[in-house]
Amino acid sequence: MSIIRLNKAAYIHNLTKILDKVGDKNRVILILKDNAYGHGASIISDVASELGFGFCAVKNEIEASEMVNKFSKILILSHIVNGDENSKYIYTINDMDAIKNIKSGTKIHLAIDTLMHRNGIGVDEILTALNLVKKRSLILDGAFTHFRSASELNADYFVQKQNFANAKILIKKWADENGLKTPMFHSHNSAGFERVHKLHDESVRVGMVQFGYTQFDENFDLKPVLSLYAHRLSKRLLRAGQSVGYGAKYTATNDINIATYDLGYADGLFRYDGYKELILANQNKILGTMSMDSFSTLDVGDEVCVFDDARVWAKYFNTIEYEILVKLSKDIRRVWV
Ligand SMILES: *Cc1c(COP(=O)(O)O)cnc(C)c1O
Repeated sequence: MSIIRLNKAAYIHNLTKILDKVGDKNRVILILKDNAYGHGASIISDVASELGFGFCAVKNEIEASEMVNKFSKILILSHIVNGDENSKYIYTINDMDAIKNIKSGTKIHLAIDTLMHRNGIGVDEILTALNLVKKRSLILDGAFTHFRSASELNADYFVQKQNFANAKILIKKWADENGLKTPMFHSHNSAGFERVHKLHDESVRVGMVQFGYTQFDENFDLKPVLSLYAHRLSKRLLRAGQSVGYGAKYTATNDINIATYDLGYADGLFRYDGYKELILANQNKILGTMSMDSFSTLDVGDEVCVFDDARVWAKYFNTIEYEILVKLSKDIRRVWV
């Protein structure tokens, strides 16, 4: 059976690097959405909470329910408002309608649209939004924004920082006038977190850096946490001239010992089509097309490491490591090593 090994020392190393820069666990929101970026929400959150991190963010109520008892604060990012929100969670307000329709008394973080135009309240709508928050007796626990291109060197990051600074002034003033505590502010995702110098009045909201992949600063010392292994299902001698797999995309030029391993595109891997070489962690190539539940390669024994750095596959498939990792099937067993 295929297996995902999670390097505990690497995860702790990355969390320590985050903490070194932020200085305070209470100012870190760990993003554990989508099965903790494919790493396994349950197993990852056990360690994060043991280490004393108390605030996580997830996608929806189903994910949030798996975090209860581990974190004292759970922020839901992509909840579709239905008026039946749970008082155990904090809900992101993604537009004005959400303020109108969310259950009265619910704890919220207000998303502010500072340029990305994906979610959030526009800076010019903030006062209207805040007055509605008050009218609906919602509890404003936080306000945040999201950078659209923090990993790229252009002006957007600075424009958004300035827009968010203006938003913070408005919110702080409103809170003061209403005798409320200033809500917590956060804007930095992983790339933003790497490039920021001083956080001042903000918390961070980090996903991928936890798992060991830098987004902006190559010198930021992080260690990939996840490695993926497949196990040998069968082996055989492939004779010169014989081909393996669908469509006969690989033909042996001399006799070789090959094996078929138990991971395929049904397990969340991208389907390798057998054309341009795709190199596994042991430097061997996948031979022929990948099947739904298996692939073939040189026989390297009972187990083969498919990758220990998701960037190899991301580069090959012209995508980002997020997509390679997050698609890994929940059914693959995950263990700490
Ligand atoms: C997923 C997500 C993050 C985390 O992004 P990383 O690049 O993984 O750090 C932060 N904020 C929001 C709103 C998100 O949806």
